[in-house]
Amino acid sequence: MNETVGNVLHQVGALPSLDRMLLLVAVLPATFMLLEFSFPARPRQPVPRRSLAVNLAYWFFNPLFMQVASKLAVCLVCLGLCLVLGWEVSESVLDGFGPLGAQPLWLQAVEMVVFADFVDYWTHRWFHVTRFWRFHAIHHSPEQMNWLASARMHPVNDFVTRVCQVVPVILAGFSLKAVFLVVPFLVFFVIVLHSNLNWDYGPLRWVFVSPLYHRWHHTTDQEGLDKNFAGIFPIWDVLFGTAHFPRREPTKFGVNHDPPPETFLGQLLYPFRALPEPIPPSPFSVREGEPAVPPAPPSSEGEAVTDESQPSLGGAASSGHTPPSSFPG
Ligand SMILES: [Zn+2]
Ligand SMILES: [Zn+2]
Repeated sequence: MNETVGNVLHQVGALPSLDRMLLLVAVLPATFMLLEFSFPARPRQPVPRRSLAVNLAYWFFNPLFMQVASKLAVCLVCLGLCLVLGWEVSESVLDGFGPLGAQPLWLQAVEMVVFADFVDYWTHRWFHVTRFWRFHAIHHSPEQMNWLASARMHPVNDFVTRVCQVVPVILAGFSLKAVFLVVPFLVFFVIVLHSNLNWDYGPLRWVFVSPLYHRWHHTTDQEGLDKNFAGIFPIWDVLFGTAHFPRREPTKFGVNHDPPPETFLGQLLYPFRALPEPIPPSPFSVREGEPAVPPAPPSSEGEAVTDESQPSLGGAASSGHTPPSSFPG
């Protein structure tokens, strides 16, 4: 039993390894520094030393501690599943079950990515519109977008997001081996999204979220607030009326209202601090001093889509209807 649990922990990557350290210390930094040097969105973008130190702390803390915690949580769910269904606790629990687990691994991987991205769209949006925004504000706090800023995520935000994505996948019967297949690609994809790269993927920009698309999520420019929640497929933003995709660059990033301090410890504690004032129950609430623009209802016809190079998908140009938000995107 102990040996089985040890093998499962090893297979899900919950145990530290030399490979992972090499990736964190050498392979990923070298790759992304070279890419940002070759294809910069903002050439010679200065990154303050303090911001660099905070990003570096997250770069090592989340993979080495928090992601281990979420993988342990996944293992506990597997163990609970075995106990509830009366299965023997063995490594075969990683193979999934039922009709979904019987599909080819590559097909399971594709289905899981689509499902997990749909869940991520809603958990991400949930973090923006509830009191839990203060956990997610940490991810929005960098004022310069670069590959290292991708790591900046409060541990609670990181843990909740991962568990919400993976637990339903396990309970539905998918094989965890399919998860392992896609995780390296997803890690690379997420770092690309936050990198200072001038890529917008051309005609594929409506298929995959590009760095430019995600910069419009991180902007504090009014027109981009509470837009572009999707992590991989922009279709979710199009379907639920939150897509905003001009071909130009946003002007600034960060958090407008009550920004987190620029220290690692300060940011870990920031969500637990007393609020400076009551926050409104939704991002559509009008704050004092903000114009009273009524919120636009979510549209299934992509009304909020704005692509200056093309007619909007819903046939209505609507760049002016961003609601006032107390949760800067
Ligand atoms: Zn982001
Ligand atoms: Zn966000």
